[in-house]
Amino acid sequence: MNIVDILIKKRDGKALTTEEIGWTIENYISNRIPDYQMSALLMAIYFNGMNREELTALTNAMVHSGKIIDHSGHSGIKVDKHSTGGVGDKVSLILAPLIASAGVPVPMMAGRGLGHTGGTLDKLEAIPGFRTNLSEKEFRRQIDRIGCAIMGQTETVCPADRKLYALRDVTGTVQSLPLICSSIISKKKAEGADALILDVKFGNGAIFDSKRKMFQLAKALIRLGNGLNIKTVALLTSMEQPLGNTVGNWLETREAIEGLKNQGPSDLMEVVFALGSRMLMLGGKALSFAEGQKILRNKLKSGDAYDRFLEMVKMQGGDVAVVEHPESMPLSKYQFDLISSNSGYIKNINAREIGFIAISLGAGRFIKEDRLDYTAGLILRKKIGDHIEKEERLATIYTNKKEAIAITTARLLEAYTISTKSVSPPKLIERFIDENRKETNLFSQ
Ligand code: URA
Repeated sequence: MNIVDILIKKRDGKALTTEEIGWTIENYISNRIPDYQMSALLMAIYFNGMNREELTALTNAMVHSGKIIDHSGHSGIKVDKHSTGGVGDKVSLILAPLIASAGVPVPMMAGRGLGHTGGTLDKLEAIPGFRTNLSEKEFRRQIDRIGCAIMGQTETVCPADRKLYALRDVTGTVQSLPLICSSIISKKKAEGADALILDVKFGNGAIFDSKRKMFQLAKALIRLGNGLNIKTVALLTSMEQPLGNTVGNWLETREAIEGLKNQGPSDLMEVVFALGSRMLMLGGKALSFAEGQKILRNKLKSGDAYDRFLEMVKMQGGDVAVVEHPESMPLSKYQFDLISSNSGYIKNINAREIGFIAISLGAGRFIKEDRLDYTAGLILRKKIGDHIEKEERLATIYTNKKEAIAITTARLLEAYTISTKSVSPPKLIERFIDENRKETNLFSQ
């Protein structure tokens, strides 16, 4: 076999065999296939897609590129959550310790920023010292001790996704259904989850703009996950505007800490409660959605969820003092308010554009080797439906790149649409899809 024949075959729209896919992944992770040839193959997959057999073969090859973490010493049902990606989506930082504090173990293998969307690992690494490159043993031990751990793909656990993910981020190959499905489900299999809820985002800031495409993605993910014996369900949630009020790694982590103290913004907490209640149901700790919500509210109010986050930060080497005193973390050198020149109601906030603006400010990568500026990002002072007066602040930009201010200010102004008529905020939770791919109301049992 050789990679040139394989990528030409895919470029020409033909299906690859299981052997060809397995051979390619094996040779890519052992560095015998260079990034430039893999980029060409990814682009061919982007344009031509994959059939079901190819998708299963790719996912299996990615899972078996490393070890599957064995939690057999732990009796509880291990439940995870994964988002298809959004802007301002810091839900995982709250959910992992919250669900663990309610008695359901959460072994979470997360990702970095991808395209215009942010990544959980980058947000956590904004806490000085926080390590996401846990060994298999450390991950397992942490799940046994405190019930939650968040790690990234490593050299030994899901190494194929580690390399492919970083390559897709900078080669315009993020928005591919088979590449997204194999990336997400391979990580979930490798981390040892028994059940999974997917937060499938739709709307302008989501991975695909079209709601129809996101339904298709949700159903493909559910089929693939259940096929690998992970009980997989999905919630479709809106990404018409950034979630919460912050975008950018440290700013988002700070907002997640507020959420863990039961002081998070209402849109963020609505998504946390919806996903969290379903996680408790999957983990056998709640019999109904309403019961799940009640448990979660108690865990936030009592401080148990916040304490669990502190334990997680400590075990993963992070500076607990910074979490306890977020105001002690220095912010960016340049802070700039975006002022509205009109009064009216916020009709639209282009979330995708906000994601790209955050990258330009230093919060994301243009090439694989880019180092992040953890403090760069934005605080949104107004959200869809809010009233704004002329001369009032729309947003505040944080950056250490002086040259980025002028360009991003102009782009940011264009990302907002202001209307003279009143506007309702978008509905956040759209639909629940069960493990049989049946669409139901979120609140049904
Ligand atoms: N999350 C992932 O882990 N992979 C993707 O491709 C998209 C979202």
